[in-house]
Amino acid sequence: MTALATATPLAVHRSRKLIPEFRLHRPRSAAEAVAMKAAAGPGAVYMAGGIDVVNRVKSGLQVTDVIHLGAVAELDDIEEAEDGLQLGALVTHDRLATSPLVKAQLPALAQTWPDVANIRIRCKGTIGGNIMAGDPSYDFALTALAADARLHFLISDDSTRIVSATQSRGATRGALLTAIILRSGSALRLVFDRSLRPVVTVALGLDTVGGRIISGRVAIGCAYAAPLTASLPLAEPLPPGELARGAEQLAQEVVAGLPTPLADHHATSGYRLRMIEVLLRRNLTAAA
Ligand SMILES: Cc1cc2nc3c(=O)[nH]c(=O)nc-3n(C[C@H](O)[C@H](O)[C@H](O)COP(=O)(O)OP(=O)(O)OC[C@H]3O[C@@H](n4cnc5c(N)ncnc54)[C@H](O)[C@@H]3O)c2cc1C
Repeated sequence: MTALATATPLAVHRSRKLIPEFRLHRPRSAAEAVAMKAAAGPGAVYMAGGIDVVNRVKSGLQVTDVIHLGAVAELDDIEEAEDGLQLGALVTHDRLATSPLVKAQLPALAQTWPDVANIRIRCKGTIGGNIMAGDPSYDFALTALAADARLHFLISDDSTRIVSATQSRGATRGALLTAIILRSGSALRLVFDRSLRPVVTVALGLDTVGGRIISGRVAIGCAYAAPLTASLPLAEPLPPGELARGAEQLAQEVVAGLPTPLADHHATSGYRLRMIEVLLRRNLTAAA
């Protein structure tokens, strides 16, 4: 009994009592938000829907300033851009699930998103917050990786940066994510498999030119400390039928190059690795 009572607690309980006092800022524009964050210093955080931010402060995260993005105009549009579909960082999961443009241009997202989280989370949580939270189980972060999305950041009033989602980690610390561009229509084929969540999630993005698959990526969620992306080892552009025939070998090659997945109460490392291979093979075949 004594040993149990003095042991390290198994879980940190969330409580409103742990929320520190902080200054709340309500910028009206992206430039104002960036300026406020810079002026507030290292204790400041952006807050979009606030689902993660609020959970973190209830778990003891110390923040001095919250830059609430809710009143920032222009960051919640979904529109066609020259290079694909442009999604504002403040677009909620629900808008993604119900947008006619998303349905027309990226049908795999429109089909998958009604199953993401629950309606309360979908109405509040944003796709920008989903990416920036860096959680390995979050689905839009996987979408951005599989699609090799372009992420637009505002760093200061007169400095913007566009980075590939697959190369963005750490490169834009403190910057404001303003938009995400996904190639759409026939240039990108996206496939999702959330059927084994929380053991593993797989998102597949295939780049096609003239009906042939020229390159592709698999983004793997729930299996590592951060979302992980691997390129498909395609030696040459493939027509879809050949991709289907080579799916088993491709899946084996990808899995052979992966690091050892996590082991936890959901699954062992070995089971996760095996399931990544199974889902990848199945979804390569489905995509083809
Ligand atoms: C019960 C439950 C179930 C869930 N199920 C799922 C699920 O099935 N799939 C899934 O993907 N997610 C799921 N989630 C997570 C949810 O989707 C995310 O919490 C949400 O997308 C985060 O968005 P937000 O706007 O609330 O982020 P916030 O909490 O506001 O922010 C998250 C992080 O991003 C930063 N940030 C936010 N916006 C910006 C920006 N524009 N620029 C720079 N930094 C920014 C914040 O500072 C913070 O660090 C679930 C959550 C809950 C509570």
